[in-house]
Amino acid sequence: MSVQIDSLDSLVKILIERCNSGLNNDQSFSGLLHCALCKNIQRHSFKQSIGSWQSIHKNQLDFSKSISLAKLNGQKSKSISDFIIETFIDVGLRGNCLNCNARVVMLIHRSQRGHSLLTLYEHGGGPGTSNTPEVVKYYLDQAFCSANIGAHSAAVIMHRSAIDALLADNGYNKGTCGNKITMLENDIKKGTAPKWALNLDTELFKTIRNLGNDAGHPNPINFPKQLEYDAKLYSATSALFRHLLDEIYEAPIRRKALHDEIKKYES
Ligand SMILES: [Zn+2]
Repeated sequence: MSVQIDSLDSLVKILIERCNSGLNNDQSFSGLLHCALCKNIQRHSFKQSIGSWQSIHKNQLDFSKSISLAKLNGQKSKSISDFIIETFIDVGLRGNCLNCNARVVMLIHRSQRGHSLLTLYEHGGGPGTSNTPEVVKYYLDQAFCSANIGAHSAAVIMHRSAIDALLADNGYNKGTCGNKITMLENDIKKGTAPKWALNLDTELFKTIRNLGNDAGHPNPINFPKQLEYDAKLYSATSALFRHLLDEIYEAPIRRKALHDEIKKYES
């Protein structure tokens, strides 16, 4: 039987309830999840690969190799003395994108802040487009990897670095990220900025920079603020980068190709 769930939050909630009730079955799921390869939300099929509390028997441990999921065999702990490690993984799902078949593993585990979700993609998948400079892609991929393991403050810092690298690639390569934004603003006022920037609201860059500064600079006054950084912030910032990178690096190429095609008919 396949259950269709259209919200990732609902999927996680149902799995946690199932885990807490001690049930462990191999029901398959279909749900919506970001696909790192398609770079947008796609329907995935999931199968539960780890259920309930798991333990690794001491005889199963091989310290010459890393502990793999294959060693989590579903045995329940009867006596703590029989087991030297009880994992903190509650639920594991193996999934694949129904559009491109890219694989993903999702793990729900206990942490100090309750249940957390780790999403491990087969492919890297920041919002970089095909003509985005590698250095910008690098920081966006780092943000993607950070967000997928719940390190949202780290993702925010990487997004700030991506803005810095983006500005440097467009000729604003002196000083701090703040200086680069000011230089761009000055050029916008003078009308000498790159075309993509002429309609840009530079407050957007400032917000991403400010969030990165707050996340990266230890400050007891701002500290609780960082706890608010979450998956929704990552998703929104990532979508914004996707839009921005398309406008800067892809749209001019598409426009030129169309123009060239039309020009052929000009006498
Ligand atoms: Zn896909």
